[in-house]
Amino acid sequence: MTATDYFDVVIVGAGPSGLMATTWMARTGIKTLLIEKKSGRTLAGHADGLESRTFEILNSFGFGESIWMESNKTIDVCLWSSSGGYLRRDSVSPNHEPGLSRFQEATLGQGRIEEHLLNFVKQHSSVKIKWETVPISLKISDGKCDDPGSYPIEMRNDCSERTIRARYLVGCDGAHSWVRKRLGLFLEGDQTPNGHWGVLDCIPITDFPDIRKRCIIKSDAGNLMIIPREKKLVRFYIQVSPLVAARFKVDYHSSTLIAVLRDILQPYTFNTLHIEWSTIYTIGQRLCSTFSVMNRIFLAGDAVHTHSPKAGQGMNVSMQDSYNLGWKLSSVLRGVATSEILHTYQTERLPVAERLIAFDRRMCFGICSTEKDPSENANDRFSNLRPTLSEENSCAAGIGVVYGPSILMTSSSDCDSAANVEDTQSPFPQSKHHLATCITVGGRMPSQRVLCQSDSRPWHLQDRLVSTGQWHLIIFGGDITDGIQKTRLNQLTNSLSHPESLINSINLSDGSPVGSLAAYLVHTAPREKVEFMELPAILRPFDKEIGYDYSRVFADNASSGEGCGEAYQGYGVSSRGCMVLVRPDQHVAFIGALEDTNALYAFFTRFAVTK
Ligand SMILES: Cc1cc2nc3c(=O)[nH]c(=O)nc-3n(C[C@H](O)[C@H](O)[C@H](O)COP(=O)(O)OP(=O)(O)OC[C@H]3O[C@@H](n4cnc5c(N)ncnc54)[C@H](O)[C@@H]3O)c2cc1C
Repeated sequence: MTATDYFDVVIVGAGPSGLMATTWMARTGIKTLLIEKKSGRTLAGHADGLESRTFEILNSFGFGESIWMESNKTIDVCLWSSSGGYLRRDSVSPNHEPGLSRFQEATLGQGRIEEHLLNFVKQHSSVKIKWETVPISLKISDGKCDDPGSYPIEMRNDCSERTIRARYLVGCDGAHSWVRKRLGLFLEGDQTPNGHWGVLDCIPITDFPDIRKRCIIKSDAGNLMIIPREKKLVRFYIQVSPLVAARFKVDYHSSTLIAVLRDILQPYTFNTLHIEWSTIYTIGQRLCSTFSVMNRIFLAGDAVHTHSPKAGQGMNVSMQDSYNLGWKLSSVLRGVATSEILHTYQTERLPVAERLIAFDRRMCFGICSTEKDPSENANDRFSNLRPTLSEENSCAAGIGVVYGPSILMTSSSDCDSAANVEDTQSPFPQSKHHLATCITVGGRMPSQRVLCQSDSRPWHLQDRLVSTGQWHLIIFGGDITDGIQKTRLNQLTNSLSHPESLINSINLSDGSPVGSLAAYLVHTAPREKVEFMELPAILRPFDKEIGYDYSRVFADNASSGEGCGEAYQGYGVSSRGCMVLVRPDQHVAFIGALEDTNALYAFFTRFAVTK
């Protein structure tokens, strides 16, 4: 018998999706082994586009702001085309839709993002990383899968004689995923014949005027995309013929790509003395429609969906996959949720991948096609592309993802009686969307600026929704100096803090936030009329060592010169208020009136494991 090492979770692949999964495990203290074939992080090239939702996610772990500061913002998108051999700028338009997120699309090399994630992971002792290691065998014992405490996964790797046993396995090992192949699963789809594109990362020396803006160029000599990046770098996507693609693959020399690039950019000049990375790829869209096996093995990122890098979605959707999975795994492993919640990984993320694949097809068609739409302006070479670009700014940026009803998500109703579940055993509490008309049940909680009751500082409410595995209950209490609203608030907080309340019975004894519920108040009373110490204790938790938590109560008041005072309006909440339950991944699970505690508890009863 060989010696055996036991892990709660084994993650294969330290790319963006594997590192995001590992980040969750590190944050929630789950014993994890991360296995990576390479000797370290990505050093150059690969993905570089970060969408606003990804920034929000990275920020929820505490390092989004530093990545944001380091990245290059792509504010505008310019469309250029040539006619009669003359290259001209057709339009300049915003590269994002204002108001959806405080972050917008930006670029930074994949390696830097991996480094930020790795730095976070390395601060946590529950994770062990094995570089230059690949798994060589995988077995799953069917009989043990129903037992939550069992280790049904048995693996070996190429660097050790020891056996690895795990409760869960996450395959984040990219498009050629070994884990996926071992499960007998395939990526299905196709490649576009002759859809070859070269990729060149360099510091350009050029007189092309929009080199620091995102550009899509359709010239008589071919199609080109320009993506400005950090540190004066620019990424060029260059459409090439099959002949050029074949020539490049002989010696992988970037001069082959530069020759085509120069042709397309004429009459502008191009030179470079600093080339960071170059490659070539063929456009294709492929999807594996199975994201999990026996609720024990999960696949994420490129392992289950691959597509062109045209819209810069690859790294984003891959990280968002494992962001969706990570907190669910931690909740089950920490014993606060039933393993049934793990089924929602596939039901929530597969539709996102399907939409991504369809979107990428439209994007590629819009960028690659040279045809003009006869029904539109005959000179407009971008008529196929414009709707897709605007879709990219809203839905495709991850902000538009809405998860459907499930054990972890209520359905939405406009009926006022919807959430009045008298019997807490009722399995189907519904949300009252009309109480917060600008918040979508299933969508991520949008951010509004509010003033902290204690220090009057403006905060983005989303900054409070940190990723720790904790649920967030945002109570919109209205004007709590009004007797009726005050009573309604007190009844709700009394119910939540009752020693026998269901919410109190989910807390872990070691003080870990995983699975617990944090309550916040956003009120509309003038903040000088509200006394912090008179507020219900659940809104100002006390710690023997660090005193009161001052960051749970906010006023929707105007602040001098800093905006604020429009949160209720922005969320579509009336003066009667409501409560909004936000999952650990910032998606809104339930909206109810302040009285709808039974519905709230009925929701948790569906999956929570109580003491
Ligand atoms: C050459 C190339 C160029 C790209 N260019 C762009 C681009 O310009 N823009 C864009 O948005 N996207 C681009 N992508 C796609 C983008 O990088 C991916 O969508 C994103 O990285 C997916 O993240 P992931 O973690 O799922 O997979 P990956 O980033 O592929 O990470 C998988 C990891 O698993 C490791 N691994 C693989 N097999 C094993 C094994 N058996 N054992 C252990 N470890 C293993 C790999 O070494 C790798 O570190 C590119 C991808 C590649 C490969």
